[in-house]
Amino acid sequence: MFSYRHAFHAGSHADILKHLILIHLVEYLQEKPGALTIVDTHAGAGIYSLKDGFAAISKEAEGGIVRLLKYIEAGNPIPESIQHYLEIIQSENTQEELALYPGSPFILANLLRPQDRLKLFELHPKEIDILRHNINQLKQSKQIDVYAEDSFSRLKGLLPPPSRRGLVLIDPSYEDKQDYRHLETAMEEALQRFATGCYAIWYPGLSRREAAALPDRMKKIATHHKRSWLHTELRVENAPGERRLQASGMFIINPPWTLEANLLQALPILIKALGVDSGAKFVLKSFEA
Ligand code: SAM
Repeated sequence: MFSYRHAFHAGSHADILKHLILIHLVEYLQEKPGALTIVDTHAGAGIYSLKDGFAAISKEAEGGIVRLLKYIEAGNPIPESIQHYLEIIQSENTQEELALYPGSPFILANLLRPQDRLKLFELHPKEIDILRHNINQLKQSKQIDVYAEDSFSRLKGLLPPPSRRGLVLIDPSYEDKQDYRHLETAMEEALQRFATGCYAIWYPGLSRREAAALPDRMKKIATHHKRSWLHTELRVENAPGERRLQASGMFIINPPWTLEANLLQALPILIKALGVDSGAKFVLKSFEA
């Protein structure tokens, strides 16, 4: 436990998929003026340097955001949603060259309106200190609560939010195999308390049994609660062995009706921009309850 540091993966293809979807979800929910509560159950450090530290060692951003930027520099067209995502990432950088990659807490903070609230959970003893320090620098810090607690057991206590408008991002490291089981319990409890909330669950596209079964487990829970869902997966590579992450997915419960069309535009471009071999492909499925 606690060997996972998200800085190793900052700006990877998996971050691109997750953050692109996250931005769409927030902005759809903000079309109504009512206050929105956003819970980020697995926050990480908030923002990462791509120039030094763990990200510079792993170089995962080179197969993700850096590769995407090169694709655009080569004159290839991109849909508005990818352009908008890149503008948000760039807005955290003072130089034109990308030196910092914002994680979900900074992306979410950037999108907050005065009436919105953000709740961040982080358990790692080092990450929580960095996260607190980073959040304290933000002008939106008064709208943000940071909890050094286990979000799987604490999530239900925050639901439903007072305004009954809420988005929950669940982005575990799955470092502990129990995370898969904890996720299911947390989702059951969350939907019992707040069935109309929007839930976005990230998972790694791995062949290990628990990861491969996750989308079907989530479908079962959504169906049991009579909820609509959308499932998407982005595979950039299909090489033997799983030394590096080649695919990742998002499972959305109560997705906005606009999300599928948005992803239908973005995913083929992400395959072109980030695909490493002919195994690059995407999955996009949904069900309306
Ligand atoms: N959501 C972040 C982003 O998109 O930038 C990345 C988060 S990273 C994948 C997962 C984080 O969850 C790690 O920093 C880890 O320390 C933290 N974590 C692991 N188990 C947790 C738990 N039960 N409750 C809260 N945080 C946890």
